[in-house]
Amino acid sequence: MSPQSKPVILIIDDEPDRLAALERDVRALTSTLEVRTWAPEKSDGDPGATFAVKASGDVGFVVTDHDLTKNGPPGLLGTSIATWCLDRYLPMCYFTRRVEVRLPRERSIFEFRISFDADERERAREIVRLAHGFQDVRERLASGPAEGSMSDQLAGIFGRPILSNDLAPYFSGIGLAHSQILQDLASTDFAGEANTSARASIQAFVLGHILANAVLEFPGPILNTAQLNAYCGTDSKEYHRVSILFEKAAYVGPFSQFDGYFYRDRVDAVLDAMSGEIEGDDPDTYGRLVVEGQVGTLPPHECERIDCHGTRGGFWCPFTGRTVCGRQDCSVASTSWIPRGAVVCRVERDYFDEHAPLLGS
Ligand SMILES: [Zn+2]
Repeated sequence: MSPQSKPVILIIDDEPDRLAALERDVRALTSTLEVRTWAPEKSDGDPGATFAVKASGDVGFVVTDHDLTKNGPPGLLGTSIATWCLDRYLPMCYFTRRVEVRLPRERSIFEFRISFDADERERAREIVRLAHGFQDVRERLASGPAEGSMSDQLAGIFGRPILSNDLAPYFSGIGLAHSQILQDLASTDFAGEANTSARASIQAFVLGHILANAVLEFPGPILNTAQLNAYCGTDSKEYHRVSILFEKAAYVGPFSQFDGYFYRDRVDAVLDAMSGEIEGDDPDTYGRLVVEGQVGTLPPHECERIDCHGTRGGFWCPFTGRTVCGRQDCSVASTSWIPRGAVVCRVERDYFDEHAPLLGS
C-alpha cells in the first residue's frame, strides 16, 4: 500500500439500497479509511475479473453479503468472494441471516460473520473495528522487526514480548486446518521487496485473525470489560466501579476501538497490590474479595446457582457470555470447544450438558 492514500474497505452487496445505507453508516465512523462499494449485477461479466479490479490497490478489508444471487451474476456467491479474498490474504467479513452458534469448530478462524439481525449501527461499528484493527496490525508490523515465532510477533505488536508464552497456545490449532497459509508464509522470505510485502500481508492476516477471532473472543491474556467482571466475580452492571480500578492494566491496541480491554497479567498485579490480607489461592473468590475491599459490598451477579449465588467467579463462558466459577456443577474446564490458551474461559455447565450430546466434547 502506498503511504499517501487511505486504506480501503470494499463493501459488496447485490441490493443497492442496503449497500448505500451500510456505506453511509461506515463512512460516518471512520476518517482514516476510504469506502468502496460493488453492487454485482446480472450483466456483470466474469465476476472474478470484476472482483480483481474492485479489490485492487489499497483494499485492506472486504465485507460481503453471503447471498449475492438476487441481482448478481449467475454463480457468484459470498463463498466465491471469500475464496478470492483468501487467495490475496485479504481479511473479510460476511453478512449472514443465519444466527450463528458460536462454536469454534463451526466456523473458520480466518473469516468474520455479522448477523443481518444486528442493529445497523452495531454492524457498521463492527466492520470499522475490524478494518481499523487489521490496519493497525499492518502498521505496527511495518514499524518493527517481525521476527521469531508467530506468538513472538503478536507479543511484539503489543510491545510486550513477555506475553509470547501466553499467546503461543492460540496458534497451535492453525497448522492442520490451514497448512497452505503456513506454507505460503514459509515460502516467502526477506530477499526482495515483493517477497517482503507478500510476507507482511500474510503475517498481518494470520496475526489479525488470531487476535480478533481467538485471543479476544476466548479470553486468556486479554480481557474485555465483561470478561474482567467475570474474572473478578462481579456483575457487568458494576463495570464502571470495577474497571476504574484497573486503568493501569488497560490494553490499547488493534481491535480495542470500541470497548475497554485489559491485560490479565496486569489485572493480577493490580489485584495483588490491593489485596492486603486476602489470600490469592482461590480464583473463584479472590477477585471479588479484593474489589469489594476497595469499593465496598457489591450486589450479586446474575448467576443464581446454589452455593455460587452470584458471588463466585473467576471465569467467563464464551457461549453464554456469563460469569462462571470453577465448581464442577457450575462450569466445565477446557473442552475442544475452547482454544488452548484461553485460560479465563470455561463452558457453563447447563450449556455444556445441553450441547455436548450433539457436538461431542
Ligand atoms: Zn459458580
